[in-house]
Amino acid sequence: MNWRQEVDNRKEALLEDLKGLLQIPSILDESKAAPNMPFGPEVRQALDYMFDLGERDGFKTKDVSGYAGHLEYGDGEEIVGILCHLDVVPAGDGWTYGAFNPTVTNGKIVARGSNDDKGPTMAAYYGLKIVKELGLPLSKRVRLIAGCDEESEWRCVREYFKQEQMPTYGFAPDADFPIINAEKGLYDGVLTQLPIQHAQLTKYHLISFTSGERPNMVPDVATAVLQTDEVLEEQFEAYLEKYEAEGTCEWDKGTYTFTMKGKAAHAMEPDNGINAAYMLAGFLLPLPLDIQGERYIEFVRHVFADSRGISLGIEATDETGDLTINGGVFRYHDEERTATVNIRYPYTAKFEERLQNLREIALSFGFELKTRHHMPPHHVAEDHPLVKTLAEVYERQTGETANLMAIGGGTYARSLEAGVAFGALFPGAEDVAHQVDEYMEIEDLLRAAAIYAEAIYELAK
Ligand SMILES: [Zn+2]
Repeated sequence: MNWRQEVDNRKEALLEDLKGLLQIPSILDESKAAPNMPFGPEVRQALDYMFDLGERDGFKTKDVSGYAGHLEYGDGEEIVGILCHLDVVPAGDGWTYGAFNPTVTNGKIVARGSNDDKGPTMAAYYGLKIVKELGLPLSKRVRLIAGCDEESEWRCVREYFKQEQMPTYGFAPDADFPIINAEKGLYDGVLTQLPIQHAQLTKYHLISFTSGERPNMVPDVATAVLQTDEVLEEQFEAYLEKYEAEGTCEWDKGTYTFTMKGKAAHAMEPDNGINAAYMLAGFLLPLPLDIQGERYIEFVRHVFADSRGISLGIEATDETGDLTINGGVFRYHDEERTATVNIRYPYTAKFEERLQNLREIALSFGFELKTRHHMPPHHVAEDHPLVKTLAEVYERQTGETANLMAIGGGTYARSLEAGVAFGALFPGAEDVAHQVDEYMEIEDLLRAAAIYAEAIYELAK
């Protein structure tokens, strides 16, 4: 079977269908939510658009209350699921041709959603359409499941799988080729310092300590306000010099304001950044602060001493990478004394034990740990038929090795019990998701469609 030829035969139709979908500004708008359109009319319109294509091409369609829907082909007990999404992030300013005015230029199709995830969705749809039109015998049903809330809260898949059968296995064309088969567990917690009853007078009183906005980022600025009659300029300068850091120090009527610069990075790899809060805490550590402030600073230095949880004794590693820990948001003042902790751990790590360790260490410093969000790890074994089949198809069509990838983030594929992320961004292609002038190379779109067609056939035959 020449899958690519089959795709090329349908190239113009594929592009036309994709353009129609890209014209719909399917951004979440809950202010206009109504029955069967929980995410607003534009998202609903995108779902209806896919149903129209499905009916035109002879698929069974199912609307799951406007949260999601599927297009189905084939017979059998079991289901192969292809999990896509139709919602997009807001456009932002500065588009060359307009975010919802899909334009083909220089071999690319440019529009919001071209890459994430309407282009890959249409590639997968044409993959399924080709399998259907070739009349190939299948032993399983294939469902293209289109979610409508991937960019926000994933309410789409939660609602969908409440009502519909979980596929035996499947893939999500919403990330990278070749195959992402392992995703770390994600833990978000807040450490709150308990009040210390101690009315002692000290030379240095920590009034506030502030850093960061998001738990999943390494903070790039930290500020501390310190009340004292002592002179600290020289000491601060010496600290900056020693660590080749940048910062400022201002004095105003018995109060110092210290600002430390770090380097922002995503919490998936905190070592790519420099934690400004940790750095600033290092300057404050040797000062005899008030007891509450002192314990806070000691704790910050202890917990975030390294990005692998070694100082806490919670380190873990396997072929999917190291456990990482990030301190993203620090708030210390009269009303609040907190630090957030974002932990990403490999699937073999016994996380409950590690969490208990962290809890105990926190308590010994006078901190309480509260869980805000916990997403367990997701992993499909290397020798699982799903992974083996997709790898074979990818290698046959591209001539490249299908290396398995593990990531610290979470892809849509984890909504499937046995699911992997499979494209549609090829290795080396620029990741333009969520950016202005988002695009997809038309050649990549066609290559992806051919890979999806064969993958669907091989998984469902
Ligand atoms: Zn996406």
